[in-house]
Amino acid sequence: MKHFDVLVIGGGHAGAEAAHAAARMGANTALVTMTLSGIGVMSCNPAIGGLGKGHLVREIDAMDGVMGKVADKAGIQFRLLNRRKGPAVQGPRAQADREIYQREMLAVIQSQLNLTVIEGEVVDLKMVGQRATGVELADGTQIHSSTVVLTTGTFLRGIIHIGEEKRSGGRMGDKASVRLAERIDAFGLPLGRLKTGTPPRLDTRTINWSILDEQQGDEDPAFFSFETAQLSAKQVACGITHTNERTHEIITKNLKRSAMYGGHIDGKGPRYCPSIEDKVVRFADKTSHQVFLEPESLSGNTVYPNGISTSLPVDVQKDYIHSIVGLEDAVILQPGYAIEYDYVDPRALDASLQLRATTHLFLAGQINGTTGYEEAAAQGLVAGINAACLAQGREQVHFGRSNSYIGVMIDDLTTRGVTEPYRMFTSRAEFRLSLRADNADQRLTPMAIDLGMVSSKRQSLFEAKRDALSAGYQALTRKKYTPKHISGAGIAVKEDGTRRTPYQLLAFPDVQFADIVRVQPDLEGIEKKIQIQLGRDALYANYIDRQQKDIDRIQKDEAQLIPSGFVYSGISGLSNELTAKLENARPSNLAQAARVEGMTPAALALLLAKLRQHK
Ligand code: FAD
Repeated sequence: MKHFDVLVIGGGHAGAEAAHAAARMGANTALVTMTLSGIGVMSCNPAIGGLGKGHLVREIDAMDGVMGKVADKAGIQFRLLNRRKGPAVQGPRAQADREIYQREMLAVIQSQLNLTVIEGEVVDLKMVGQRATGVELADGTQIHSSTVVLTTGTFLRGIIHIGEEKRSGGRMGDKASVRLAERIDAFGLPLGRLKTGTPPRLDTRTINWSILDEQQGDEDPAFFSFETAQLSAKQVACGITHTNERTHEIITKNLKRSAMYGGHIDGKGPRYCPSIEDKVVRFADKTSHQVFLEPESLSGNTVYPNGISTSLPVDVQKDYIHSIVGLEDAVILQPGYAIEYDYVDPRALDASLQLRATTHLFLAGQINGTTGYEEAAAQGLVAGINAACLAQGREQVHFGRSNSYIGVMIDDLTTRGVTEPYRMFTSRAEFRLSLRADNADQRLTPMAIDLGMVSSKRQSLFEAKRDALSAGYQALTRKKYTPKHISGAGIAVKEDGTRRTPYQLLAFPDVQFADIVRVQPDLEGIEKKIQIQLGRDALYANYIDRQQKDIDRIQKDEAQLIPSGFVYSGISGLSNELTAKLENARPSNLAQAARVEGMTPAALALLLAKLRQHK
C-alpha cells in the first residue's frame, strides 16, 4: 500500500494550493482528484482577485503559493480596483483565460517536487479510532497517509438546478461525490446545505460587439505575484451592456419557474453575488443592471456574462438574454444553473483547519461554507501547511487577524461559523490599514522563509527588497526640515513650526515622492519600486502607530493558546451559559475566546488565570 505524509482530496483551488504548500514544506504529498483535467478548473467566473479577494491572493503569493503566479500567466485583463482610493482598499483583479489557467496550474502541480497526482474518486476515509489514516478509491485502491485534507468544493451531494429540472452533479459536466458525503455523514459532523449559481455562457460570434461599450484593462498592470515582472498573455477588452425593463418583466413573469423562487432549493445563496432573479426582486425599483461580457479565453468562443447568474429554465434564459442590447441574437452555449451542496459548519474546525472531533483530518475550501476561488485557495494553504506540520511533528502554524486577511477569514469561519456562503471583503479586517495587498510580502514572507517553504529565488528577491526598504527608510528619516524649507521646495504643509522628515512629509496624501526629492535631492537614487512602497508605508504610518497597541494586545492574546481538551466547567465565577458557549465554540486562543458571544473582560481574566495554572 502506498504511504504519504499528506493526502489531499480534490484538485480545485483549495486542493491545488494545499498539496503544493505541503510539498513545499518537504512533506511527501499526494493529490487525489477525480480527473487531471479538473485541476485548476474555474467553476464560475473566469477571474481572480477583486476587493478583499486580491488581498488573499497576494498573501498566498507571499507564502510562495501558486494562485498568484498562475493568474498572472493567464491574465488577459488586469485592473486594480479602487485605484483612486487609498492603497489599503485597492484590490488587484484579473480576468483570466481559463484554458491557460488550467494548463499552467496542472504544469505547476505536476512539476512540484514531493507531489504525486493520482486520478480517482475517493469513496471512503480510513480511520483508526478517531484518527484519519488514509482513503479508499472507487476502484478499491487503498492509500495510506499520516494526514488527510478534504477539499471537495461543491461536489458533496451536489444537485444542479435549471428551472424545475434537477440532477445530481458536482458542477456542470462533473458527477457529484455521493459516497464520500455519506461516509462523512456517518462522522456526525454538523452539515448544512448552501447554494450558488452561474450565468449562461454565450457564443462570442453571436454578440453584436460593435454597439457595446468597452472596458479596457489598466495600462500599468498590477500583478498578483511579487515575482511577476511582465505580462504573459495578450490583453483584451470586455464589453458592457445592461438589463432593461423588458428583461426584468420576463424574469418577474417567470419567477415561479426559477429553481430558487419555485421552492426547489433549501440552501442559502451568496448575498453579495445575487442571481438576476434576486436582483430583480430585491432591487425592484431599479430598471437596469450592468452586465460585463468577459471572454473566457483567447482561443475559444465562450463569453461569460458577469452579473446575470440564474436558475431559470433554458427557454426563459433565452428570452431574457435576447432582450438585452447587443445580445439580441446571442446563442447560449451552456445554460446558467444553480447548485446546492453540503458544507460542514466550520466551527467544527480549529484554527489550523483540522476537525476537532477527529484528528489528522483537515478541511479547506467551499466545503467549509465559503464561496470563491481565492477564499478556497487561502484555506488550502493553511490546511496544507498544517497537515505537513502535523505529519512532520512540527508545531501548528496559525494566521492571526492582525497579520493577514487569511487570519481574519480563518477566525471568522472557526469562531462565528456561516449562515450564507462566506466571501472576503476589506471591511472584515479591523487592521486593514496595515493588512494591505501591497505589503503582503513584508507581513508574511518572513514566516514562509522560517517554515522553509519558499524557493531560493523568492527568498533572495524578498531579502533584496527588504534591505532596500530599510535603507530607503533610513534615508527618509535621517534629516528634518523646517516648514519654511519645505514650502520653499514647493510643498504646501501646515505652517505649525514642526520640523518634519521626508518620511513624515510622505504621510500627506498630496505629497508625492518627486516633491520630497526637491527637498532632499539624494533621495532620487532610491529605486522607483521602492519609492512607491515607502510612500504607501508612510501614508499609513501615523494610523498604524496608533493601532499598534490594539495589534500588540490581540497578538498577545493570539499567542495564548488554549489546549484542545481544555475543560471550561468548574472555572469559578464563569457562568453556566458562558461555559456552554465556550465548550461549543472551543476557541484555539484567548483572542478567539474574547470574540465568543457574551464574553466579558472579567470572564476573560478568569479564563486567563485558569490557563496559567494549566501550564
Ligand atoms: P472546487 O473548485 O469545487 O474543487 C473541488 C475538487 O474536488 C474538484 O477538482 C473535484 O473533482 C474534486 N473532488 C470532489 N469530490 C471528490 C472525490 N470524492 N474524490 C476525488 N476528488 C474529488 N464563486 C464565487 O466567488 N462567485 C460565484 O459567483 C460563484 N459561483 C459559482 C457557481 C457554480 C455553479 C459553482 C459550481 C461554483 C461557483 N463559485 C463561485 C464557487 C467557486 O467555484 C468555488 O468557491 C471554488 O471553486 C471552490 O474551490 P474548492 O477548491 O473548494 O472546490
